[in-house]
Amino acid sequence: MANSKFEYVRSFEQTDALLPNTWIVVRVDGRAFTKMCANYGFEKPNDRRALDLMNAAAKAVVADLPEITIGYGISDEFSFVFHKSCDLFERRTSKLVSTIVSTFTANYVYSWSTYFPDTPLSFPLPTFDGRAVCYPSVQNLRDYLSWRQVDCHINNLYNTTFWALVQLGGLSNKEAEKALAGTLSADKNEILFSRFHINYNNEPEMFKKGSVIFRDLVDPDSHKVAEEMDDLAEPVQQSKSQVEKDKKRRSKARVVVEHLDIIKDEFWDKRPWILS
Ligand code: ATP
Ligand code: ATP
Ligand code: MG
Ligand code: MG
Ligand code: MG
Ligand code: MG
Ligand code: MG
Repeated sequence: MANSKFEYVRSFEQTDALLPNTWIVVRVDGRAFTKMCANYGFEKPNDRRALDLMNAAAKAVVADLPEITIGYGISDEFSFVFHKSCDLFERRTSKLVSTIVSTFTANYVYSWSTYFPDTPLSFPLPTFDGRAVCYPSVQNLRDYLSWRQVDCHINNLYNTTFWALVQLGGLSNKEAEKALAGTLSADKNEILFSRFHINYNNEPEMFKKGSVIFRDLVDPDSHKVAEEMDDLAEPVQQSKSQVEKDKKRRSKARVVVEHLDIIKDEFWDKRPWILS
């Protein structure tokens, strides 16, 4: 690299490496999506095309970065979890966040026409902000993900009832808001059922639970993978070649999108490689 009298400016750069040995969560969130919904005519309360597009962009991010162990998305946001052992970009915040945000945004824009074939993208273009947070324990990380999934449930129940009152009940937005002020979950379920014959339990899983993205290391047709999984479940000291092999396997594994409960233990017990 050329040495010049200008080189010293580099020393102004601040280190922003994240705490070692902690789970890194990078969350992206759509900027001004309330306006985006109006501009592009998103269906309320849930536009399936827009959610599928979020999932496609997130899937591309996970496939591109094998260091990501799980992703979880609702509405206009997606959280990506880096394993606590991750050393990508020496854990520098700005590198991690900017890479995720731009990879996500690029894929969102690229795939737009697949999900909105009749609605060309124009201005305002979709953009996303991003942040990184470190969680020191698996419990903290799972509580973080549970927090997002509870948010999904609460918002979706509210939005489903609100839009039923507006679209099916003929109320104005203000009237619907007033009707729902102070109501509990049970009240909303009751309004949906008695007034509109909607059983909330029968709403689509993607709307109720959000979307989980992870590498599916279990191939039901392969005994070999099952054996390797046993290896993975125990965090033994791995040799370098094992680490390399594992990395390769992760990068080759199928990335899947599911709509499952990630609050209860079952999801994690069935997929021990995600947090091991
Ligand atoms: P900010 O820039 O601060 O994030 P915002 O307008 O994006 O502002 P959010 O709190 O992120 O605010 O809310 C996102 C909005 O977009 C919510 O109103 C949500 O209902 C709506 N939205 C997101 N995805 C969809 C979707 N698939 N279908 C319908 N509405 C959606
Ligand atoms: P990193 O991901 O760490 O940034 P990098 O390969 O992008 O790795 P940079 O230090 O950013 O490394 O360097 C960018 C490289 O791309 C340089 O070698 C530069 O000469 C080359 N490059 C950038 N723009 C052009 C261009 N318009 N025409 C030809 N070469 C270019
Ligand atoms: Mg925001
Ligand atoms: Mg937003
Ligand atoms: Mg949001
Ligand atoms: Mg560079
Ligand atoms: Mg570069």
